[in-house]
Parts: sequence; C-alpha cells; structure tokens
Amino acid sequence: MTPRQAPVRAADDPSDGSVRTCVGCGRRDAAPALLSLWMSAGVVVCGLSRGRATGRGAHVHPRPRCLEDAARRGLARSMRREVRVRPEELRRRALEAARTCAADALARAAGGGALEKSGSGLHVVASDAGPPSPEVARAIGAGRAVCLGTREELGSLLGVDAADWVVVTSGAQATRLCRAAAVTTALAGSEVT
Ligand SMILES: [Zn+2]
Repeated sequence: MTPRQAPVRAADDPSDGSVRTCVGCGRRDAAPALLSLWMSAGVVVCGLSRGRATGRGAHVHPRPRCLEDAARRGLARSMRREVRVRPEELRRRALEAARTCAADALARAAGGGALEKSGSGLHVVASDAGPPSPEVARAIGAGRAVCLGTREELGSLLGVDAADWVVVTSGAQATRLCRAAAVTTALAGSEVT
C-alpha cells in the first residue's frame, strides 16, 4: 500500500498564496511546491522554507530534472555568483531537509497532543505498512494520507522501533508533513547525475 498522491497545493498553506520561479525549469509555481535554496558561508543550503535566513535565495522544484538544471546553470545565474554544487548533493540535501522537517512536525504534533493512532486527520503511512485498517484505507482513498519512509524510518521519527501509520490532527503540522512527503516521494530512489 503506497499512497502516491502528495497533496501539495497553494491552498494547503493558508499563510502564503505567493508564487515563485523555479531556477531549474524556469516555470512559476505556488511557493509551497518549491524548495528554498540560499547561500550560507559559501555553501548552498536547501530547505523546505528559508526560515530566518537572509541574503539572496532561489527556489527549485523537488524534481530530479529541476535540481540538475539548477546545479548546472540556474542557481549560479540566480545567485549572480559562481556556485559549485553537484546535482546529487542538492538531492541529498533536499531529502535531508524533508526528513528534518518531518521529524520536527511529528515532534511538534506529539508535543501538542495532535498525534493519534486513529481518527480524522492526516494519515502518515509507512511504505511497507501492513494491510490498512478500513479507516486508513478510507483516508488513502480520500487523499488524506501521505507516505513517509519505511516502518523503521517512520518509527525512528516517532522514537519507536517501527510504526505502520500515525494520524496527525494538527492542520499546520499536517501541511508541513505533506510538503516533506512530496519531496521524499519525488526524490527518493531517483537518480540525479
Ligand atoms: Zn522546476
């Protein structure tokens, strides 16, 4: 069972309806659909959002082709300086940023009492989870589920050995998890040269 759809739309982020340009393909898209890139001490940093980082930044789709074109051309053009980064390195940093974001979102949800074993909310499901309960199957069918790593990977984010799924009832953390899952789904297992 692998919920493929990763519902990332501008509407998922109530705080921001802004649009950004991808330095890979050059197309404009809703800001939450793009990764943020910026320079820190001469190194390209990749994040799901910039937070408080200052200075010149850029945006890129979490797609192998866009990361490749960004590393080869688009990033240097946008930053107006020489940027040395391999596409594979950008991909690795994007996956790391997604994992950090997912771990933080789950920790905040847990801290705020917004993590349940069942109920209504976003179902975060492991890619190798066992047969889904009727509730989980309904959530997947309704697009209220995202896939985030294996049982062990999801478990490690939750501080347990392994987990099949968990329900996040905080809208804000669900939005962040949707973004993290979209990046992971788009880039995990993909080859960037
Ligand atoms: Zn793009």
